[in-house]
Amino acid sequence: MAAPRPKASRAASPRQAPVQKPTREEVHEAIRTMIRWAGDDPRREGLLDTPDRVARAWEEMFQGYGEDPVAFLRGTFEEIEGYDEMVILRDIRVESHCEHHLMPIIGSVHIAYLPEKRVVGISKLARLIDVYAKRLQIQEKLTAQIANSLNDVLKPRGVGVIVQAVHHCMTTRGVHKAGVEMVTSQMLGAFRDDARTRREFLAIVSGRPTRATES
Ligand SMILES: [Zn+2]
Repeated sequence: MAAPRPKASRAASPRQAPVQKPTREEVHEAIRTMIRWAGDDPRREGLLDTPDRVARAWEEMFQGYGEDPVAFLRGTFEEIEGYDEMVILRDIRVESHCEHHLMPIIGSVHIAYLPEKRVVGISKLARLIDVYAKRLQIQEKLTAQIANSLNDVLKPRGVGVIVQAVHHCMTTRGVHKAGVEMVTSQMLGAFRDDARTRREFLAIVSGRPTRATES
C-alpha cells in the first residue's frame, strides 16, 4: 500500500507567496526548452536569437501587469455640465491572450456610458482596454474589468461593454473553427435596467442606429 502523500503545500497555506520574476536568462532557457518540445534544436542558427525575441515580445504583449487602470483613469476624467446623452465608442481593436493556451484573442470592444457629470477622452478609454488586454485573460473577465473600472471612476448612470473576438486557440488549433466569434457583454446601471437604453446601444453597435422618431 502506498504511503499517504503529504498534503500539497497549496492546501496547507491558502495564501501563496508572491511570484518571483525570473531573470532574462531563465526566460531564454525556458524558451529553448519549448523549442526542444516542438522538436527543433535551439542551437540551430535560425533559432539562436529566438529566445531573446520571444522574451521581448512577451514584455510588449503583457505590459498591462503593474499598471493600475483605475488610478490612471481617476487622473484623467473631466467634469462636465449639461451633456447627459449616451457616449459610445465603437470598434476599438483589442489584442489579448487567452490564459488557457497563451494564444491570441483578437477583436473589437464597444463601450457606452451615460455620463453623470464626468467624461473621459477616447485615447484614455483605448488605453484602459489595453491595460486589461495586455495580460493573460479570459474574455468574460476582460469585459467585466473594463465595465467595472469605468463604473467605479466615472460613476455614470450606466455602462455597457461588448467584446467580440476571435480566439486563436479555437481557430488555429483544437476544433479549428475559423471565423467563430465570441461575444460577451457587461451591462451596468441603466444599461441593465432600461431596455430602451440597452437597445439604443446595441443598435448603434450593430450599425443600425435607432431613428429619433422611434419610441
Ligand atoms: Zn484558449
